Amino acid sequence: MRIKAAWLKSSGPVAVSKMLQQAGYEIYFVGGCVRNSLLNVPVNDIDMSTDALPDTVMTLAKEQGLRVIPTGVEHGTVTVVVEGDPVEVTTYRKDIETDGRRAVVAFSKSILDDAKRRDFTMNALYADLDGTIIDPLGGLDDLHARRIRFIENPTARIREDYLRILRFFRFHALYGDPDAGLDAEALAACAQNLDGIKTLSKERIGHEMRKLLAAENPAPSIAAMAQTGVLMRVIAGANPTSIAPLVHLENMVNVSPNWMRRLLALGGEDIKGSLRLSKQEAKLLTAMQTVVINALPPIIAGYKLGRDAGFDAMLVLCAHMETGIPENLEQELNLGAEAKFPISSNDVSDRFKGAALGNCLKKLKAAWIDANLNLTKNQLLAMLDDD
Ligand code: ATP
Ligand code: MG
Repeated sequence: MRIKAAWLKSSGPVAVSKMLQQAGYEIYFVGGCVRNSLLNVPVNDIDMSTDALPDTVMTLAKEQGLRVIPTGVEHGTVTVVVEGDPVEVTTYRKDIETDGRRAVVAFSKSILDDAKRRDFTMNALYADLDGTIIDPLGGLDDLHARRIRFIENPTARIREDYLRILRFFRFHALYGDPDAGLDAEALAACAQNLDGIKTLSKERIGHEMRKLLAAENPAPSIAAMAQTGVLMRVIAGANPTSIAPLVHLENMVNVSPNWMRRLLALGGEDIKGSLRLSKQEAKLLTAMQTVVINALPPIIAGYKLGRDAGFDAMLVLCAHMETGIPENLEQELNLGAEAKFPISSNDVSDRFKGAALGNCLKKLKAAWIDANLNLTKNQLLAMLDDD
């Protein structure tokens, strides 16, 4: 079996492979790039695996005048930069100890060891420079069946690194067969090891969840996460029931998957802390939550969030209420997004000063929003006369 892909021929990996092969070492592409090319889906990053030790990779690269960055030397990863193109090279490893937060590994000379310390059989596929597949653990069969199967014993693999629970659901959402369901033994292993999730860093959890939520249809995976109790451990109070209706609405209006929109539909307590969102992401999510929780009309969603985030919030609201999408949604969102509050401080500065001026503007804006932006400057100023 061979793959054909442009990245196989890109100058960085080719130069690094030749450098290591000429010095008598093995080097292969591995993981997501091989898996995704076999599935004909876009490749996110290129990982390479070798039997050369990190120090050897660095010495050889420097001899060739290439820049090397010791990205994660203790885990065996160095980045070699070829013509500005970074190539990540990781030395073959094997798991030697269980710690649960990250597998503790040692370097190895054997590709079989390296394959066995990976998570799922479809992630333990290798390719040489010609694209010929090396499949030490039968990953190809699972890949073709779109079956996410733990390498060897699911419980043992999960106890080495509890993140693998989340990765199991993530890879099912992205590459699993939605009709076949998830592997029963793996599901049971996830359900029996829930306590391990709290030992993981929120960054690692957030990273997996973003990818899972950005899948074409994450609903079956999220439902399984809820059934096994994983979802509650990741985001307390999250409710999976709106995800399938949301995906249905997204397909109707033909919008791309978006992790933030799906996260909004899940809801729950302390979402921001649970997934360690950035300040900017947290701010947007909070604003969207306000619109959804208060079931605000589309024109207000457009005003508060802008057209795109307003559209996302409205889709989630419709999914929660299990209604269709209002016919004039786009029009109302645009009206809101373009609307300008008709009063400025100059309009009221003759009557109010300092804090009182601020309060007056706040009160008028609240009234304007309450009236669905449907009050003119004169109508708003007249409200001051009534007070
Ligand atoms: P993506 O397309 O999202 O990059 P990927 O399969 O390349 O998918 P990465 O997280 O980049 O995923 O990891 C690269 C490879 O390293 C995986 O394919 C897998 O073989 C291995 N791997 C990564 N994380 C783990 C883990 N926690 N446990 C075991 N193996 C892992
Ligand atoms: Mg990857």
